[in-house]
Amino acid sequence: MTEPSLPASLEALLASLNPQQREAVTAPPGPILVWAGPGSGKTRVLTYRVAYLIAAYGVSPWNILAVTFTNKAAREMEERLEQLLGSTRASGLTVGTFHAFCARLLRQEAAYHPFTSRFVIADTDDQRRLLQQAMKDLNISEAYYPISLVHTKISQAKNAGLWPEDYPQGSPRDRTIAKIYQRYQALLEASRALDFDDLLLWAVRLLSEYPGLREKYARRYQHILVDEFQDTNTLQYHLVRLLAQDHRRLFVVGDMDQAIYRWRGADYKNLERFQRDFPEAQVIPLEENYRSTQFILDAAMGVIRPLHRKPKRLYTRRGQGRRVVVKEVRDTYQEATYVVETILELVRAGEARLGDVAIMYRTNAQSRVLEERFLEYRLPYRLVGAQRFYGRREVKDLLAYLRLIYNPADESSLLRIINVPSRGIGMKTLAALRTYAQRQGKAAGEVLLDLAHDPDAYHAVFPGRMHRALYAFAVQMKTWQEEALGRSPLALLDRIIEDVGYEAYVRDGSEEGEGRWENVQELRRIASEYPPEALEAFLEDVALVSDQDTLENGDAPTLLTLHAAKGLEFPVVFIVGLVEGLLPHERSMHDPESLNEERRLFYVGITRAMNRLYLVVPRTRWAFGVPEPQEPSRFLKDLPMEAVEGDLLKLFPELRRTTREPSSRRSRRGSRAVPAYRVGMRVRHARWGEGTVVSVEEAGGDQILMVAFDGGTTKPLLASMAPLEVVES
Ligand code: ATP
Ligand code: MG
Repeated sequence: MTEPSLPASLEALLASLNPQQREAVTAPPGPILVWAGPGSGKTRVLTYRVAYLIAAYGVSPWNILAVTFTNKAAREMEERLEQLLGSTRASGLTVGTFHAFCARLLRQEAAYHPFTSRFVIADTDDQRRLLQQAMKDLNISEAYYPISLVHTKISQAKNAGLWPEDYPQGSPRDRTIAKIYQRYQALLEASRALDFDDLLLWAVRLLSEYPGLREKYARRYQHILVDEFQDTNTLQYHLVRLLAQDHRRLFVVGDMDQAIYRWRGADYKNLERFQRDFPEAQVIPLEENYRSTQFILDAAMGVIRPLHRKPKRLYTRRGQGRRVVVKEVRDTYQEATYVVETILELVRAGEARLGDVAIMYRTNAQSRVLEERFLEYRLPYRLVGAQRFYGRREVKDLLAYLRLIYNPADESSLLRIINVPSRGIGMKTLAALRTYAQRQGKAAGEVLLDLAHDPDAYHAVFPGRMHRALYAFAVQMKTWQEEALGRSPLALLDRIIEDVGYEAYVRDGSEEGEGRWENVQELRRIASEYPPEALEAFLEDVALVSDQDTLENGDAPTLLTLHAAKGLEFPVVFIVGLVEGLLPHERSMHDPESLNEERRLFYVGITRAMNRLYLVVPRTRWAFGVPEPQEPSRFLKDLPMEAVEGDLLKLFPELRRTTREPSSRRSRRGSRAVPAYRVGMRVRHARWGEGTVVSVEEAGGDQILMVAFDGGTTKPLLASMAPLEVVES
């Protein structure tokens, strides 16, 4: 990821680009689409374009909006621009994620929405709590409407731009979800909180409903640039169009083969929309890959080929490099050992440093076994995933205090800490407080502040003991609020820790308690980076922290999901768990479009590798103590034989025959004749018993069957290999 030290003058800057890149960077302002493969310099071109606009056209950074996919990418861009232009000329630029941009807009335009400029951003936990509350209020049982399902449905609706009143009312189920959605929004509004999706939804609403506002922002943002355009969702596209439709200075870069966020609402139709809305756009391809060696690119092309009518070429001048290693291992434990020992060997041989290595997997849960092995070998590692730190109880508690001080109406934060550590405010007192607040049309936190100002007025409202407990806390809250002015987030945090006795609360003498206290110290360290009066900025950054943002530079291998790896590059990459059910994930198996997305995800993983790539296949996974045999991922079969070494043919012996003995395939496993399977056939498996064939996929002269067994499981099976017999055709 290191760049050569960047040239100072514009000319030198342009000289470091190839002709296509230069064309994209210097194209006259107007709609431009840079559509190109991985590692071809799209992100680099976008960054240089910003520098070029400033240096060559004299555009003020103030008039530029550059949208990146993560906050980390945004920071990297700012740093590069400072190197290119110097810090004074680069300042004033707006760079960040769509969410960060919308949050800023909504704070500035508080007159146009009910949340005031001091709204808080509800995280996943807050959202769940509010949904639970909404369903309780409406007497809807979680047994019939699981929170996660409701959450997904509402989030999808929001990302499609649908408000509660627009929610489709087709089935009774839809009508119920629409009701929950409505109630959930009311609860958010009462807490002056917005969830992630709301940030986009409200920003787009304001810009479409108030032409004056739209003009103001369109005038300010004369140049708009978007990275990873293939993963924008409908709302994000609308936002971009609202701002750019008049001046049309829109520069987007992307790659359809790397679209991996469809499940989160990303819409590949945005490319068509762009071409329809900006028909005059100049389309610029980039052809040379600067990241990977040729064998790695060959592997990538093999994997993506089934999605293309015309094969796409990826080429590099970096040379063939080393072959891609396919490795079969006994189980996930051996997989972890293999990864760790291979890394140690590479380091010992001087071929890589620890920090050059990334280990990628499909699901977060796969990291645990790897982490254990790293600890056992006393190897450092870094785990990417916001949950790891910001999901911890003690971190969330302290942030809730800060959020409450910042915004006393933040109900969810108040509920979290009003009795943590315990201060005699039980369920009954809390209920009394909330009921009273509701009657007054206030938030509970606001009632507490009133109480602190005028305790006597509340003797009639809260009986003796309740009054005492609430008043004591209210006074603390009021003091913190007054102190918040002029203090740094760290000073405020320390004051809270001291006042509530938080140290004694977490450090209970146990090992776990010490760990928790360390997390508190980590939070203090983060807070210490903020100047006085920066509470708002601190809370906002914390709320918007994305998965990639926990990734720092340093000399340790990185563990991360394939999704989080987007846009990054590493000299050495391991992709683990390459088995059916993980990649492709079992949830995707019955839907061709989801299967394609899994294939693209694998492609994204492969194309992160610069020099070395290892693909690991564990043949057993353990589920609650029971070994489960695994089939190697179907995607591996598309790797070109010449580009790989290792166990590919051992995993797929049938691949051998395509080059040599085409007629012998049926006799591969003894002399068993393999019938042609069809959907609906009844079959018997040696281990799983009888079942029905639910899908058949022709694959390289073989068939891949999905069989729904009567016992309840559905399994993918290779027709030529599985111990199957036909019961009834
Ligand atoms: P992805 O699709 O994975 O996001 P990308 O197209 O954005 O990839 P970049 O990350 O911009 O590609 O570039 C890939 C690597 O190639 C980076 O290390 C970048 O610095 C380098 N690179 C790009 N263009 C050139 C060039 N003209 N000369 C030398 N190195 C280059
Ligand atoms: Mg990129």
